[in-house]
Amino acid sequence: MTDHDQQNPLQTAERDVVALGIAVAAILLLVATGGAVIPDAVRSLLGTGGAPNQILASALLLNIALIIFGWRRYRELTWEIAERRRAEEQARLLAAIDPLTHCLNRRSMVEATEQLRTRAAMRGEAIAYCMIDLDNFKQINDMYGHSCGDAVLVKLCERIRALLPREASLARLGGDEFAFVMAYPVGHTERIDDLVIRLFASTAEPFNARDMTVELTISIGLSTDHDADGSPGPVVDASVLMHRADMALYHAKKQGRNRHFWFDASMENELRFRNQLETGIRRGLSENEFIPYYEQQIDIDSGDLVGFEMLARWQSQQLGLVSPEIFIPIAEEMGLITQLSEQLMDRAFVDAREWDDSLTLSINISPVQLRDPWFAQRLLKRLVAANFPPRRLEIEITESCLHENVGLVRTMITSLRNQGVQVSLDDFGTGYASIEQLRDLPFDRIKIDRSFISELRGASEHSRMANAIIALGRGLDLPLTAEGVEDEEILATLRSMGRLKAQGYVYGKPETAAEVRQRLAAQGKLSKAAPPAPAPQPAPQIFPRAANS
Ligand code: C2E
Ligand code: CA
Ligand code: CA
Repeated sequence: MTDHDQQNPLQTAERDVVALGIAVAAILLLVATGGAVIPDAVRSLLGTGGAPNQILASALLLNIALIIFGWRRYRELTWEIAERRRAEEQARLLAAIDPLTHCLNRRSMVEATEQLRTRAAMRGEAIAYCMIDLDNFKQINDMYGHSCGDAVLVKLCERIRALLPREASLARLGGDEFAFVMAYPVGHTERIDDLVIRLFASTAEPFNARDMTVELTISIGLSTDHDADGSPGPVVDASVLMHRADMALYHAKKQGRNRHFWFDASMENELRFRNQLETGIRRGLSENEFIPYYEQQIDIDSGDLVGFEMLARWQSQQLGLVSPEIFIPIAEEMGLITQLSEQLMDRAFVDAREWDDSLTLSINISPVQLRDPWFAQRLLKRLVAANFPPRRLEIEITESCLHENVGLVRTMITSLRNQGVQVSLDDFGTGYASIEQLRDLPFDRIKIDRSFISELRGASEHSRMANAIIALGRGLDLPLTAEGVEDEEILATLRSMGRLKAQGYVYGKPETAAEVRQRLAAQGKLSKAAPPAPAPQPAPQIFPRAANS
C-alpha cells in the first residue's frame, strides 16, 4: 500500500465529520422551532392555550431524532479515526523494524543515517557507518538449525547494541548482515576503531542459544563522511556511505575475514578492476580466449622428456596474456571453473594426441571442481569423447582439497585410478595433508612445492625440508616430482637425492601448443599419426602481473 492509499480512508472518515455539521444544524433548527412550539405546548398543557402547530411539532421531534443520530455518528467516527491512526502507526513501525531483532531494517536505516548526518553536521561532528557480516552463519544454520541461528542473531544484536552510544542507530540489513551509524568527533577515527575492537572481543565470547554453544566471527567494513585527515570530503549521502562500507567489508572478507577495514579509494579501483575481469572472463569463455600452455616434465636421471603439465593462460583482448593465478580464483568464485577447465582440457587432449604415445599430460584440478560428486564421471566421459587414453592422463590436486571432504576425494581418486588415470598431490608441503592421509589416499605421485626446491640453492641446511619430504615419499613408496627447478645447481643437488622427475625454468618456460609441437618434431617425438607441424605463433604480449611467478 502506498502512503496515498493509506491516507484515503482516514481522510474520508474525517470528511464524514459532516455528520457533526448535520447535528449542529439540527440543534440550531431545534432552537428555532423549539422557540415557537414549546411555549404553545406548555400553554396547551396548562389549559390556557390551543394545541401547538402540528407541522412545527413534527419538525421539532425530527430535530431531536437528528441530534441524537448526529451525535452518535460523530462519536463512532472519532473512535474509528483514532483506531485507524493507531493501525497506521503500527504498520509504519513494522515497515521500519526488523521483526526478529527489533532493530531498524535496511529501508529505515537510510533515513536514520541521513537524519544523524544532518544532526552531526550541525554540531560539527563526523559520522561513521559500520557494516557487520557474520563469517560463518551458514555453517551455524546448517549445523544447529535455523531457530538456533535466529537466536544467535538476536543475541549478537543485543551485544552490538550494548556497545553503542545512545544516539547511534543499529539495523539488520538482512540475513546475517548488520549495520550501525554513529557520530564521532572529527579526526578521531580511533574512537570508532576502539569500539570495533571491543565488538570483536564481545562477539568472540561463545553464544549460548537453544542449549547450544555457538562460536562466531565477524567481518567489518567502515566508511565516514570525512576524509582521513578529518576534512569533510565531498558531500556523501547515506547511500554512498553504505556502498563504501560495503566495499570495505568485501575487502575485509577477501583479506581472510574476522577483521575490519576503513574504506579507501583503492578498494573502489580494485572492485572496478575485478568487475572488468569478471566481464572479461565471461567473454573470454565464449570466445575461446583461454589457452593451454605446456611445461616439460623430465626424468632427472636419464634427462628424457616424459610429459607435460598443462598450465592455463588467458589471451585477453584487453589485458594481454593473463596469469592463472589471477583468473583461476575469480573463475572459482564465479562458479565458472568447471566450464573453464573443461574447455582447456578438450583443447589439451587434442594437442596431446599429436604427441608421442609415451608422453603424459598433467592437468591441474581446482578444489571447487572436486566438490562435484560426478567429477570423475564427467572427466572420463570427456576422455572417451576425445579418444584420449586415460593412462596418459595425470590429474594434480592440492592438499587443500583434502580437508574439504576426504571421503569424496578418496572415492574420486579410486574411480579415476580404476580407469587408468593417475593422481598426484600438488604443491606438497604447503598445505595440511597429514601423513595418515598420504598413507591412506591412493596417490600415484607427490609434487614437492617449488618453495622447498628453491631453498636447495646454496647453503645446505636450507635443504632439510626438501630432504625430509623426499625421505617421506620414499618411506611411503611414492614417486616424486620436484617443481620449480630453476638452475643447474639445484638440478645437481636433486640428482644426488635419488630418482626424481623434475620440471622448471631450467628446462625452459611453459610453451604454446605450436611451440611444443615444434620441440617434439625436432626430437622425433610426435605421434606417427600426427599431421605436419605448422610454424609456431610469435610469443604474445605479456600482462604485467602475468609473468610466471
Ligand atoms: P602449479 O601447478 O604449481 O604450477 C607451476 C607454476 O610454477 C606455473 O605457474 C609455472 O609456470 C611456474 N613455474 C614453473 N617452473 C618454474 C620455475 O622454475 N620457477 C618459478 N618461480 N616458477 C616456475 P603458472 O602457470 O602461473 O600457474 C600458477 C598456478 O595456477 C599453478 O601452480 C596452478 O595451481 C594454477 N593453474 C594453472 N593452470 C591451471 C588450470 O588449468 N586449472 C587450475 N585449477 N589451476 C591451474
Ligand atoms: Ca600443478
Ligand atoms: Ca605445483
